[in-house]
Amino acid sequence: MNKRTEIATLGEFGLIRRLTENIEIKNASTVKGVGDDAAVLHYEHKEVLVTTDLMLEGIHFDLTYAPLKHVGYKAAIVNFSDIYAMNGKPQQITVSVGISKRFSVEDMEELYNGIRLACDIYGVDMVGGDTSSSLTGLTISVTCIGECDKDKIVYRSGAKDTDIICVSGDLGAAYMGLQLLEREKALSADERDFTPDFSGKEYLLERQLKPEARKDIIEMLAKANILPTSMIDVSDGLSSELLHIAKESNVGIRLYEDRIPIDYQTAAQAEEFNMNLVTAALNGGEDYELLFTIPLAVHEAVSALKGISVIGYVTSPNLGSYLIGRDGGEVPLIAQGWNPL
Ligand SMILES: [Mg+2]
Repeated sequence: MNKRTEIATLGEFGLIRRLTENIEIKNASTVKGVGDDAAVLHYEHKEVLVTTDLMLEGIHFDLTYAPLKHVGYKAAIVNFSDIYAMNGKPQQITVSVGISKRFSVEDMEELYNGIRLACDIYGVDMVGGDTSSSLTGLTISVTCIGECDKDKIVYRSGAKDTDIICVSGDLGAAYMGLQLLEREKALSADERDFTPDFSGKEYLLERQLKPEARKDIIEMLAKANILPTSMIDVSDGLSSELLHIAKESNVGIRLYEDRIPIDYQTAAQAEEFNMNLVTAALNGGEDYELLFTIPLAVHEAVSALKGISVIGYVTSPNLGSYLIGRDGGEVPLIAQGWNPL
């Protein structure tokens, strides 16, 4: 039996102390972290970026297959990803959780271990937060503060006619991972001694349960002196993110179906599930890749970078937004979001 300490034995202040002890401040912009009524931050000659994300048990994560440490890691990562999508650097987070009686002190330590691991890897300070008891389930809200030079911020609204559309990594794997986990959950509910076999599918699970934010891509673009004209992270699906850029930039989009980067495991799983692979890659969310546009003039420079695919181009707004199929036919891009097929 694992050790179980009821949260009531520590009380709220005791719990916060336990979860936030020994935090070492990493960033000069953090003047005061946990331990006073408010954190104190100082940003010299920088623009300050703020983003927040709310995750509810049963809606955004399922603890029957997602370990608490991974849930914590992901809660932090999705916020970092939004800061990178502005071309910024995440600096601080605050973490607020609502906890039902089902959870013990050890459970909360697992959750915070995940959050702190993400902070250590991405160089972010946890500077505050709140905990409260809740009637049911687990709720996590993370707010992230980031910084960027004023002239380096990349908005969704900067794409121009003739720009090239690029995306990092590959798409659809997180969605396939979710389908896989949901299927195994349904199977294991029927069978008592069911042991799922995920061999050969590790990448899909990792993409769903423990995604990464593309700090490396932001650093690589900066090093190559390439400033995207517009950018967004792929949290809801490629289609809907492209349409956000189209709308905010007042442009049209041409996306080539055969250019969408898809991992081998994603393709194999789509086949096993008899699902349309392109639909999954277009509409499956949670990949946390970066989707951005660049001027035609730097096309060659971007093509030389590893881990970035050129997937289409920007047109004038009157030409609309379309997917160009393998046969050359054009289908309107629609924001299908999360509805599975
Ligand atoms: Mg976003």
